[in-house]
Amino acid sequence: MKETFFGRCVFIGWYCERGSCKFCYRSTTSHKKKHAAESKRSMASMISDAIIGKNLGWKFEYLTGGYANRSIGDIVEIAKNISKVYKKKIWVNLGVLDEDAMDKLSPYVEGICASIETVEEKLHDELCPDKKIEPYSRMLKLARKKGFKTSITIVIGLGEKKEDIKLLFDFIDKHKIDRITFYALKPVKGTAFEDVKSPSCDYYSWWIKETREKFPDLEIVAGLTPKKIDYVNPVLEAGADTLTKFPAIRLFGSEKAKSVEKQAMEAGRKFVGSLTKLPSVDWDKEVDKLDVDNELKEKIKVKLRQSIDKMSS
Ligand code: SF4
Repeated sequence: MKETFFGRCVFIGWYCERGSCKFCYRSTTSHKKKHAAESKRSMASMISDAIIGKNLGWKFEYLTGGYANRSIGDIVEIAKNISKVYKKKIWVNLGVLDEDAMDKLSPYVEGICASIETVEEKLHDELCPDKKIEPYSRMLKLARKKGFKTSITIVIGLGEKKEDIKLLFDFIDKHKIDRITFYALKPVKGTAFEDVKSPSCDYYSWWIKETREKFPDLEIVAGLTPKKIDYVNPVLEAGADTLTKFPAIRLFGSEKAKSVEKQAMEAGRKFVGSLTKLPSVDWDKEVDKLDVDNELKEKIKVKLRQSIDKMSS
């Protein structure tokens, strides 16, 4: 039976210095007020997320956070600690990385993702005025040359047309990418897309199906949204390998989480890991195993307890 995974991102923060993409929640005034440039997520909180993900059998999708208010030294430290938890190299999606950043990250990072959003250039420039495709394209080529795996993210429902799939295929071919993550547009209040509907299951899974047929070996990840749990079955039948963008901690054990697992089974897949049952784990011991200082360990234990309590209630 083919396996299906749940992939979870770890965010280094919710601030993005670009903050101007027209569909993104980070472009809204309310988000900018709530997450100012100086707001950063704590190391303990990020490591706690990674420990939960590892023990629940979730794949590590990538370390992300938009264009970040962090130095490369900070980012390397975070990547190092998370790779310690997973005991392997991780993926990152952190804007355009230069060669120096790649060299510093390489001991802990195996893959680099570019958030392309849409490959139709005119639409892209209109929607993401401060995030051009070309620097990402150069980054992907350099990353591949330096031995990293590469991936892109694409949002469906931004105004692209079906015929634009040829542009997507060309982009995948040209950059020889290993993985693609599709997201379905989630209309966000306060953005230009506030009144636009999320794409239908049929349309969203059409993109995945065509991509699967054209690239049988490409790893395909499909994003859900809590409101669109009915995407699960169609995107898996269309050929996605991994599901992502489900609030797995907040909705752990909920009817929606049960539905995700059930639909995966109905699509003939073995769902790896769990969104519904907590394994019997000595969480403090998991933290004690880590090669980090004692002060950080105590902070991670506090964060872990908070999340586990939330997931158990
Ligand atoms: S760069 Fe990414 S995180 Fe920042 S506003 Fe654009 S889409 Fe959102």
